[in-house]
Amino acid sequence: MEIICDKCGMVILNPEMKTIRDGDVEHAYFVCSECNSVYPVCTTNGNLRKRIEVYREMAMRLKTRCCTEQFHRRVQKMKEENVRRSRELAKMHPLAPLLSEK
Ligand SMILES: [Zn+2]
Repeated sequence: MEIICDKCGMVILNPEMKTIRDGDVEHAYFVCSECNSVYPVCTTNGNLRKRIEVYREMAMRLKTRCCTEQFHRRVQKMKEENVRRSRELAKMHPLAPLLSEK
C-alpha cells in the first residue's frame, strides 16, 4: 500500500496502523513519518466491531461457495452500513483531541 501525504507530499509506503481507545470507541489511524499528519482510517465501537466480524465471515463465504444473488446483496449492504456507521462514529468521536492529550 502506498499513500501520498496531503500535507507534505511524502510517499508513505505501507503505513503502520496504530489504534487508540476511548472507552468503547477504537480509532485506527496512521501518521506521516515526515510531518506527523494524522490520517484516520476507521472508527469503531464494540457493536460495530461485531458487525464487521459478521461481515468478514459472510464475505469469506462469498469466496468459497456459490452464493445467491440475494446473499451477495446482503453482504454488500452490510458493508455499506458498516462504513456509514464508522463515519458517524468518527464524527461523534473526533480523533484529534485524543492524540493531543498524549
Ligand atoms: Zn506528511
